[in-house]
Amino acid sequence: MSDEEKINLESKETLEDKKLNLRPRNLDKFVGQDNLKSNLKTYIESSKKRKNNLDHIILYGPPGLGKTTLSHIISYEKNVNIHSTSGPAFTKKGDLVTLLTNLAEDDILFIDEIHRLSPIVEETLYPAMEDYKCDYIIGSGPSARVMQISIERFTLIGATTRLGLLSRPLRDRFGIQLQLDFYNPADLKNIILLSSKKFNTKIDESAAFEIAKRSRGTPRIAIRLLKRIIDFSVVQNLPTITNMVVEDSLKKMRIDSEGLDDMDRKYLKCIAIDYNGGPVGIETLSASLLEQKDIIEDVIEPYLMQQGLVQRTSRGRILSEKGHNHIQITL
Ligand code: ADP
Repeated sequence: MSDEEKINLESKETLEDKKLNLRPRNLDKFVGQDNLKSNLKTYIESSKKRKNNLDHIILYGPPGLGKTTLSHIISYEKNVNIHSTSGPAFTKKGDLVTLLTNLAEDDILFIDEIHRLSPIVEETLYPAMEDYKCDYIIGSGPSARVMQISIERFTLIGATTRLGLLSRPLRDRFGIQLQLDFYNPADLKNIILLSSKKFNTKIDESAAFEIAKRSRGTPRIAIRLLKRIIDFSVVQNLPTITNMVVEDSLKKMRIDSEGLDDMDRKYLKCIAIDYNGGPVGIETLSASLLEQKDIIEDVIEPYLMQQGLVQRTSRGRILSEKGHNHIQITL
């Protein structure tokens, strides 16, 4: 297996995504994120008119909002090749140099979790992004020589959960910075309706809306819940997914009225009960919940904060009144 193939295995496009064509292929089919889409359309059109490669793009936002999907859409829209990889896949500088030197003009290099590149690999990216050059070390020890090689003009698309996780020099080298927000239930409902068609499943509009409201504003969660609800309805021989089967299945999956799961509730209860509503620091929470700090900050907290259940202050996390009320209901 070539290095590139190995690196491509890190790509998040699952076989099922590919088979069912779950990922939309052009910008018009990408639901929601209207402001981002309209700006991106302009940048793509302008680069086509100028017959130039697109400026480097950083996509940031919580997991499952469509960063990988968008990067593929950009390659379809520009009609260029995309090479997908992820930050942790690069163990040494040479891996990146090999990939960069194999890029053709206008190609897109997509690096997911770009904040997880090691500093030495990250530094290799700087001249590549700015001057389309990369340093290559030939030989080792005292006889080692540094050679600079030119590479084709390419577009780097980086994806990360939070822009702040990137070092300043790397962040500044992205000419286009696009933030993905949580989706509203109406957009998620459309994603669910489109996905059920691809799954060959009938679903009532109100049932799709109910799943949408409980999907934490995230397409990946919406599609996952839909798949599990299909399982429940198939086993019960139901011809259509109705509100009743949605309610029943979500209850069995322990997803509550706000779409929160066991982990979310454990987090809220920990602040409410163990720390008297806060403030409590992230390190303390991480130790109490036996959960990695990154998971808490990138996966659990963003939605709870967006919903106003928790607030982040300089002294730590505080449960809001809404958070307290929610815990009362679910206790
Ligand atoms: P990320 O890279 O941000 O973690 P992905 O691009 O992998 O998220 O998206 C997760 C799933 O959600 C994919 O199956 C994708 O098809 C779907 N998805 C994400 N955003 C949209 C959207 N706007 N419209 C339709 N499907 C979407």
